[in-house]
Amino acid sequence: MINDIRISPHFKLREFQCRCCGLVKLSPRLLQMLEELREEAEIPLVVTSGYRCPAHNRRVGGAPRSLHVEGCAADILAAPEAQKRLFAMAKSVGFSQVICGGFKKYLHLGYKN
Ligand SMILES: [Zn+2]
Ligand SMILES: [Zn+2]
Repeated sequence: MINDIRISPHFKLREFQCRCCGLVKLSPRLLQMLEELREEAEIPLVVTSGYRCPAHNRRVGGAPRSLHVEGCAADILAAPEAQKRLFAMAKSVGFSQVICGGFKKYLHLGYKN
């Protein structure tokens, strides 16, 4: 299976693929911070959106200059009651852009270069 490659202790490349076309761009620093967050949270982190090609980003209503298009952001699955704890941890490992999705059950994690 394409991109079925383990790229860190807890993540595979295919988890970061664009959901529409399978293209992938991934910042090493994003992956590093996700690993640190995974270690600290001690729960599996499920990536619901990683890289987005510009067309897909438009289709899902992402910000025009979304960090997903740069390979510098990922959304992870997070129940509303878990978001506050994960938000604080994400900030402490270095994410500069953390957005709680509330009832939409995700946490957006990104950083600006
Ligand atoms: Zn795409
Ligand atoms: Zn996002």
